Amino acid sequence: MKPPLSLLNPSMLSGSGSLMWFRKGLRVHDNPALEYASRGSTCVYPLFVIDPHYMVLDPNAYSPGSTRAGINRIRFLLESLADLDSSLKKLGSRLLVLKGEPSEVLIRCLNEWDVRKLCFEYDTDPYYQALDDKAKNYASAAGIEVFSPVSHTIFDPADIIEKNGGRPPLSYQSFLKLAGEPSFSLSVELSWMPPVGDVGRCEILQVPTLKELGYVEKHQDEFTPFRGGESEALRRLRESLSDKEWVANFEKPKGDPSAYIKPATTVLSPYLKFGCLSSRYFYQCLKDVYKNVKRHTSPPVSLVGQLLWREFFYTVAFGTPNFDEMKGNKICKQIPWNDDDKLLAAWREARTGYPWIDAIMVQLRKWGWMHHLARHSVACFLTRGDLFVHWEKGRDIFERLLIDSDWAINNGNWLWLSCSSFFYQYNRIYSPISFGRKYDPNGNYIRHFLPILKDMPKEYIYEPWTAPLSVQSKAKCIIGRDYPKPVVLHDTASNECRKKMGQAYALNQRLNGRVSEEDLRKLRRKFDEDEDKQEPKPRRQRQKLIK
Ligand code: FAD
Repeated sequence: MKPPLSLLNPSMLSGSGSLMWFRKGLRVHDNPALEYASRGSTCVYPLFVIDPHYMVLDPNAYSPGSTRAGINRIRFLLESLADLDSSLKKLGSRLLVLKGEPSEVLIRCLNEWDVRKLCFEYDTDPYYQALDDKAKNYASAAGIEVFSPVSHTIFDPADIIEKNGGRPPLSYQSFLKLAGEPSFSLSVELSWMPPVGDVGRCEILQVPTLKELGYVEKHQDEFTPFRGGESEALRRLRESLSDKEWVANFEKPKGDPSAYIKPATTVLSPYLKFGCLSSRYFYQCLKDVYKNVKRHTSPPVSLVGQLLWREFFYTVAFGTPNFDEMKGNKICKQIPWNDDDKLLAAWREARTGYPWIDAIMVQLRKWGWMHHLARHSVACFLTRGDLFVHWEKGRDIFERLLIDSDWAINNGNWLWLSCSSFFYQYNRIYSPISFGRKYDPNGNYIRHFLPILKDMPKEYIYEPWTAPLSVQSKAKCIIGRDYPKPVVLHDTASNECRKKMGQAYALNQRLNGRVSEEDLRKLRRKFDEDEDKQEPKPRRQRQKLIK
């Protein structure tokens, strides 16, 4: 695609500058805000603001990283910024990096620079909604034009909600019906950009390194194998699309969650998260592949179907007050989850004693990415499957450690997996033993991410506590010493969880969803009493196991 001459002909530039504010959308392809900023401007200021809360080392955080993000995602973001800077340089521009509270920095730039147009991609996350309101208010008062197009998603969530009478659709099928075929056109490919304007007294930084943000080598023993940036996103996309049969036959949830050398899905999520890859471009490429094959799968299981899951969660999240909380969230079942910090820590630190669960949690910490069904397994285990810990706690840990951490999708999937919304078959629980074994009977995935179990015979690798001591000795892994005993007994714990979910659902039904704090406290007390009545006492037994 080449730009129409009239759009970017230097002789047509009038005397005004634009500020292109990058946040997500870290790309040059299909970037309507960047295209508009470049159109008819004498100069463009491509700005990225480093928010210290998001990026600078916080030594008090429980994992290496800043206050809000794990080190893998920060590294991915820095790589994406360096790649963006290099692409902008090829177009005759560069990335201007500044540090500070983003709205303060932006307002200062609008004040000091020659800016007539402020351009940034529309963002539906609550954090950006608040930030953008401040920016827009300031710009309007200063007579600066604001251009903020929807290009992070294929559809505009506000349009879908409007079509549905002001409410978000609550099922994927109803979303598909409302959405229909998308009608976007990709923005033109830039072949050059107006020069960067005079930055005055602002101290512009280069894209920093991890070291410059306070990190040292000891902060991570292994980094994610996925490199950030638009160039890598497009390379990865080309690679996935080159196998047309694979694209045409893609069917999720089929696919092996334990495949780590060559993952069973595209691993494009971190690139979509930061907008290194345009979801609209991805969608169009998939449609082009479909045109050239005889048969292909369809939503919800196809690859296009996966992108539409993303759209679905973005729409519901945008239209649901308190989407990221149980309290005050009308689509969320009110459930008296426990707040057992010991169990939560065992899950987070890969010490549950269930190798399938622990290996996935190690992959999360080391790679920041796991297959969708692996995420299902650990999310179910933490919440309604075994530990009955609040989904918000697991959500927080994913939010910090995932490189693709995405506000709408992460919350949406935690609501789903905990049977708090969207999906209600709480009797269907993933086994932390047989589910993984079905895909990987030899336990290669476990051996890779939990090397302490690498010599455990395959008969025992999913339940090593059942191995005779002689086998444990030979495998150089004594359970209870080198690797933990299970924190709960799955059969007992999952049955208890089912009962609790049944009672919580009944409460929600009886009160028509209007469950108060006091109602939840009463039910929690009842759960504790029921546990204490049981023989052997699972609560005490559990506490003993995790000591
Ligand atoms: P592919 O299967 O190749 O799919 C292509 C794209 O479709 C993905 O990159 C993603 O953008 C989208 N997609 C796929 N599955 C889903 C889904 N279930 N919901 C919404 N969009 C989807 N995904 C995130 O991007 N960020 C998150 O923070 C996140 N948190 C999750 C938390 C839980 C508890 C669970 C169960 C799932 C979560 N997912 C999240 C959804 C899903 O697991 C990932 O999008 C997917 O595994 C990413 O791998 P991929 O790019 O290879 O996916």
